[in-house]
Amino acid sequence: MGQLLSAMQTVELSEGQRLVQKSIREICEDFGDEYWRERDRREEYPTEFVDTLAEEGWLGALVPEEYGGPGMTTSEVVVMMEEIAASGGGFAAAQAIHGGIYNVPPIVNYGSEAMKEDLLPRLARGEASIQSLGLTEPNAGSDSTSIETSATRDGDEYVIDGQKIWISRVDATDYIVLMARTTPKSEVEKRTQGISMFLVDVDDIQSQGSFEMRSIPKTATGAVHSYELWFEGARVPAENLIGEEGRGFYQVLDGLNEERLVIAAECIGLGEAAIMAGVDYANDREVFDRPIGKNQAIQHPLAEAFAHLMAAKQVVYGATERIHDADRSMAGVQANMAKYLAAESAFEAADIAVQAHGGFGVAREYDVERYMREARLTRLVPITQELALNYLGTNALGLPRSY
Ligand SMILES: Cc1cc2nc3c(=O)[nH]c(=O)nc-3n(C[C@H](O)[C@H](O)[C@H](O)COP(=O)(O)OP(=O)(O)OC[C@H]3O[C@@H](n4cnc5c(N)ncnc54)[C@H](O)[C@@H]3O)c2cc1C
Repeated sequence: MGQLLSAMQTVELSEGQRLVQKSIREICEDFGDEYWRERDRREEYPTEFVDTLAEEGWLGALVPEEYGGPGMTTSEVVVMMEEIAASGGGFAAAQAIHGGIYNVPPIVNYGSEAMKEDLLPRLARGEASIQSLGLTEPNAGSDSTSIETSATRDGDEYVIDGQKIWISRVDATDYIVLMARTTPKSEVEKRTQGISMFLVDVDDIQSQGSFEMRSIPKTATGAVHSYELWFEGARVPAENLIGEEGRGFYQVLDGLNEERLVIAAECIGLGEAAIMAGVDYANDREVFDRPIGKNQAIQHPLAEAFAHLMAAKQVVYGATERIHDADRSMAGVQANMAKYLAAESAFEAADIAVQAHGGFGVAREYDVERYMREARLTRLVPITQELALNYLGTNALGLPRSY
């Protein structure tokens, strides 16, 4: 396995990135396959794992130093998330903390000074969390600008009414970054206008009795729960508006490319876990008096999946390095390309890992069926593969826009 691990180190890491890799590997060693298998089987949030990361300040990775954080950047977070997924935690382990890290930049970039001073040091110390982003709605789906949840100003407050779907980790968060329309779509010049971003205190709206949530049973990343949410006259203090009223969609777009690269790194880690499990089994299992890995019908697909995964990894890390140099449209091209390729290669890796396991490919004790379910999910979230291709078709190829 040592040989394979070094073969997977196809990108050159900086000193800072290597430090992150080492520290995260050490933490993950305490959470082995059995831990993740059980979290998945029981559909239990990995509280111990998340608490460990929070206590050591990893959830506040993107909090700037002046607010008590380590001031890391996406360059370090891609390594962190790849390692977490590759450790055997898979996409679920990464998703358990993904929001906690990537809901920080909107506060840093657009929050008022009072909001930053109150929140960021607590996030850095792991004493508070913003694990949830509430964007998706049943009637809008991928067409996010068609959201209908409304926020109406009433004195010192906004009143929130509407419904959200698929919002993750609401059971494990103190705050939700909620997207709502302050001006209806029919009244704005551009559909991206009129959407605002709010910091919503979950305990507060729950105590008002103006909020309901229901968990959605699902087949992948069962340990990380996703919810349908209903807001009926939920009151949020006006000072909890993040940034400028009506500019929330642009504020989300601002951090989207970096977040997409981190998702891509999570897919790479998941693919690596699958390849390692597949290779391990192919070396061990003997049928017809030889290890099954000697058969090219098993060896070649594993080698092919490895080559595709490593190529995708180059794209992910290359795009991460250049994200601030490129203009937004080209950064978007690179980020969507990275997410698309990483999800496809994670899926390919998980599929051959299952095949190499024969009947045990579907046995829970071998984990590859879990990786397979998760890899399938990565082709749907946070953006579907089709929408990523739409972006490339329009912004890289110059084809007419369909979305
Ligand atoms: C486990 C999970 C966790 C999630 N967590 C969150 C969260 O925390 N916060 C949040 O806001 N959202 C979350 N989501 C929502 C997720 O972002 C959406 O499910 C995703 O963006 C797709 O939207 P949809 O499900 O409505 O699919 P739809 O938009 O209904 O699309 C259905 C299908 O049609 C295709 N399609 C639609 N339009 C086009 C087009 N123009 N061209 C080509 N194909 C098209 C899509 O690619 C897809 O295959 C989560 C979803 C899941 C499953």
